[in-house]
Amino acid sequence: MTISFSRRAFTLTASAAALAACSPQTPAAEEPAFVNLYTARHYDADRMLYAAFKEATGVEVRALTGNAEQLLERMRTEGDATEADLFVSADAGNLWRVKEAGLLQNVTSPTLEQNVPARLRDPEGAFWGFSKRARIIVYRKDAVRPEEVAAFDQLATPRFRGQIVARSSSNTYQLSTLASRIERLGSENAQAWAAGVRANFARDPQGSDTDQIRAVAAGEAQASFCNHYYYLRLTRSEDPADRQVVERVGFVFPDQAGAGTHINISGGGVARYAKRPGRAKQFLEWLVSDEAQNMLAPVNVEFPVRPEIAPAPDLAAMGAFKEEDIPLDALGRHQAEAARIYEAVGWR
Ligand code: FE
Repeated sequence: MTISFSRRAFTLTASAAALAACSPQTPAAEEPAFVNLYTARHYDADRMLYAAFKEATGVEVRALTGNAEQLLERMRTEGDATEADLFVSADAGNLWRVKEAGLLQNVTSPTLEQNVPARLRDPEGAFWGFSKRARIIVYRKDAVRPEEVAAFDQLATPRFRGQIVARSSSNTYQLSTLASRIERLGSENAQAWAAGVRANFARDPQGSDTDQIRAVAAGEAQASFCNHYYYLRLTRSEDPADRQVVERVGFVFPDQAGAGTHINISGGGVARYAKRPGRAKQFLEWLVSDEAQNMLAPVNVEFPVRPEIAPAPDLAAMGAFKEEDIPLDALGRHQAEAARIYEAVGWR
């Protein structure tokens, strides 16, 4: 009895899931006027977006925040009983992991396809970028000339022996940085680079992106790297300690003479077992609309995903730069290899 009941329950569940995954999404208007969002982002700008979306569509965004790993585990545990309609996170590596866990569904949407450049989304439509971040090099102005840190390669040379600080290799940004190099130049090159930077460490990896900038300012090292918005936030800060950091530390968009600066996204994907997949898609589409992108731009610390939308003035003032041109799902595909390389070279 138990076995046949289980089998029946399984069959029903599986076919319901197959329907949800394969059918074009139900028109959003036939679904209740809310959407449940599991989000690893928690910025004031996001709350502003939810309010504006409600204003524009009458649909309420109910956000559950957590870190990407926690939210992935939660979705895995909840399975088809989940209340998650949409998963949102920074870093294509995080989005890819949720896709690989079978917890996102492929979405077809002319609106998303037109507005999100192909390399900034999953080729199968499981996740879509809505804003962009760049990985920059920061350096101490009184010790380093900008041309000495124009490329990531230079951080791996003996010039910087004992002069580099970095965060832990378990961090997604750090994994994605190396994954992009694996995609462009192969594993051997990536390992040689990681070993070179590792040999230049001033201290064991620790802290956040902002901590690396502070360590450079404090003279613990001459250079490091971080996502651009951590630097930008320090420039927006009125705290005298932050002002001093910004005075001492310069930045470059690396690899301008080569492949271009490493880029990542914030993005989202419709949950595999979404109860309101139409609403989830509606919100994703709205995020790349003129209204949302133009509203987000002045307050967002990231770059709009649409090239024709201007970023915030102080972000634009960081300068125009050439972006690395690789499909971002590569950051997920090479994630395990990146972790293996960091382990091999002793970058903890
Ligand atoms: Fe971040």
